[in-house]
Amino acid sequence: MCKILNLEEMAGLLKKAQKLVLVSHISPDGDTLGSALALARALRSLGKEVILNVDDDLPDVYRFLPGIDDFRRFDASESVPADLLVIIDASSADRAGNAMQVVKAAGVLNIDHHKTNTRFADYLYLDAAAAATAEIIYSLIQALGVRFDLDMATCVYEGLYTDTGSFKYSNTTSHTMGTAGKLIDMGVDPSFISDNMEVKDRSQIEMLGKVLETMTFLKDGRIAYVEIPLELYDHNVDTDSFISFPRYIRGVEIAVLFKQVEADLTRVSFRSKTADVAKIALGFQGGGHQKAAGCSIHAPLAQAEEIVLKVVEAALE
Ligand code: 5GP
Ligand code: MN
Repeated sequence: MCKILNLEEMAGLLKKAQKLVLVSHISPDGDTLGSALALARALRSLGKEVILNVDDDLPDVYRFLPGIDDFRRFDASESVPADLLVIIDASSADRAGNAMQVVKAAGVLNIDHHKTNTRFADYLYLDAAAAATAEIIYSLIQALGVRFDLDMATCVYEGLYTDTGSFKYSNTTSHTMGTAGKLIDMGVDPSFISDNMEVKDRSQIEMLGKVLETMTFLKDGRIAYVEIPLELYDHNVDTDSFISFPRYIRGVEIAVLFKQVEADLTRVSFRSKTADVAKIALGFQGGGHQKAAGCSIHAPLAQAEEIVLKVVEAALE
């Protein structure tokens, strides 16, 4: 059974716990990392013992976030006791990696903003209207009665920045902008975040050149997709921004990025103008938002493309 909490109940649950494990989701992004880092700082300021966990490599682009070196990856054979396990910005249990097996906690709290949330935890705080989980974390830190410091503010701002595509996607509300404004008043420098987030490695641009050559159009240009075959895939190269290229071509309604990360495993990212790609991703046990979603297909690249593109084409019929 999953108990739905309001903000005050969530703050109460966190205050009751002394030892907490905060988990960012696999394929980590700025929202899950910034949210976890900000909440960890707030809880530590209340004297709590906090472990930060992510069951994945951390992309270099997030190295500038204050406290990022605190993240630990658990070994599957470990057993970590805790009062509360907190899973942040993940809509399904698989996104938590091995934390739900490794951590022996009295309860599991999930803080999320994905409408595809599967209600897998004991307690859930879900705000599907929030642009980012970081927007929830901003209110939560206040509900905990903690005074923001610059590091907390920077990490929350990072979450907002990432999930709104630097404050330009349709999920950006006046509340999101108002929150960002308050964070700037606390000392956050927007150019510090954007300079760190926009900078590219040469290897990234070189790979982008090769990936753009794979661009293929379907349905009279209403669908565009690019691919990263295993030979090209390098987990050290950040490819998160690549999907924006097919996405912003005039006439494209759905953009897809296929990334073959293992011989039999292909990661898929969807972006759309109007169609509900969360629904498509959910059909493949993934999830996300109406206009940005993802899933993993346990198949090689060509096979994954065949299966997924059939559904994408049908979505435009
Ligand atoms: P991205 O394409 O940037 O990896 O993800 C876009 C959105 O979909 C994000 O909100 C992300 O959390 C969600 N998402 C991506 N992949 C998965 C997945 O495999 N499972 C679930 N539940 N959500 C995903
Ligand atoms: Mn998010």
